[in-house]
Amino acid sequence: MQGDAYLKCVDPQCGLEYPIENTNVQCEKGHMLDVKYKNKPSSSLKEVFYERRNSEGSIFNESGVWRFRDLLNFCQIDTENLDECSKYLVSLDGAEGRQSKPYHMSKAAEFIGISNNNLWLQPEGYNPSGSFKDNGMATAVTHAKMIGAKKIVCASTGNTSASAGMFAANEGMNCDVYIPAGQIAPGKLSQAYQFGAQIVEVDGNFDDALKQSLDDAQNHDGYTVNSINPFRIEGQKTIPFRALEYLDWESPDWIVYPGGALGNTSSCGKALMELYEWGWIKKIPRIAVINSEGASTLSDLYNGKFEGEEIRWNKGNPNTELISRYYNHLDKEGLKPKTKATAIQIGRPANILKGLRALEFTNGVATTVSDSEMLDGMSVVGLNGFDCEMASGASVVGIKKLIDEEIIKKDDIVVGILTGRQKDAMIPVDYHRNPENRFAIPPKN
Ligand SMILES: [Zn+2]
Repeated sequence: MQGDAYLKCVDPQCGLEYPIENTNVQCEKGHMLDVKYKNKPSSSLKEVFYERRNSEGSIFNESGVWRFRDLLNFCQIDTENLDECSKYLVSLDGAEGRQSKPYHMSKAAEFIGISNNNLWLQPEGYNPSGSFKDNGMATAVTHAKMIGAKKIVCASTGNTSASAGMFAANEGMNCDVYIPAGQIAPGKLSQAYQFGAQIVEVDGNFDDALKQSLDDAQNHDGYTVNSINPFRIEGQKTIPFRALEYLDWESPDWIVYPGGALGNTSSCGKALMELYEWGWIKKIPRIAVINSEGASTLSDLYNGKFEGEEIRWNKGNPNTELISRYYNHLDKEGLKPKTKATAIQIGRPANILKGLRALEFTNGVATTVSDSEMLDGMSVVGLNGFDCEMASGASVVGIKKLIDEEIIKKDDIVVGILTGRQKDAMIPVDYHRNPENRFAIPPKN
């Protein structure tokens, strides 16, 4: 398998290639990179994945990420050799992705107005650090370990820092977390502190913090684990892998995600492109991305709400100048992303181009929902006995909105991804104390 995996620029006109040990997150012309595999994995692996669900004591079979290691084998190891797995693959005792699979949730289905049999919701909040990030962090930290990095670096205000800090602590690596000084409530970083990460406060906004984290990573032997890292995307492919596996590899009609930095959209698109190319699936599910109304960059650009042009990947020729003009417009008007769903409070989605590629491949859609709608979505998930954060509620109410608009048909099979569990204790408390909220159960005396 040696020489099977490599990195390739996503821009088809550029197409620069790099060895798998490369740690730059972009090609030298500034385009993003994909992890590529020369070999086509045989679909007979479906049986192997099924058998690994009986883990026989191996954490790499227990792990919902590494169970699919043959489809993300950038370490180019013998995937059946558990000693090699132990030497290379980073895992929190098999916990990443282990409890994540799609469930029926009847109260959510009733609220949405879809048959319970047609709706699946997949909670990623039961990952060890509490969000989907652990899927991609397991693979990014595996690559960091593979190239001998001693320190991982990210800019984050929440879930990414928790996941990075957890894996770094478990692997005995250092972890630096860059944040904009004075703009982040300390509580949002409590997990990063708990896992011993070094918080670095940067004068400026989140974009400045990200820029400094990238500079410092490059200049001081750090390894970047934000979602612009192509190895993060590899691990996040296992989110749709698990959904598809539980549907016996029969594609649903839709896979629905909350939209933030668009790493999930990108990884789902890449997973589907690969499975389709390899002949594992015959039908391509459509991706729906649900932005918050207050942080709606993708939806605005995709739906032609800025300068009247609907931006598309356009076979690798997206109108990137339109994106630049949109960002300039945000700066000039002083428009900052604003939503209580902080996990998707992002104005400049780092993966927007890969996200557009995913939407083009899957004939996808993008739309927005309000904060109060997201709170209803979050709360109705809770009534089924599942915990999720406010941003995850976007998947639920996004499906509802798209059904009301007849974009999703009532007899379609829909998988919604619930990206993280509740980390802001007061959000459900405040929701339920207000009797005007749709699903509120106020305290009584
Ligand atoms: Zn390039």
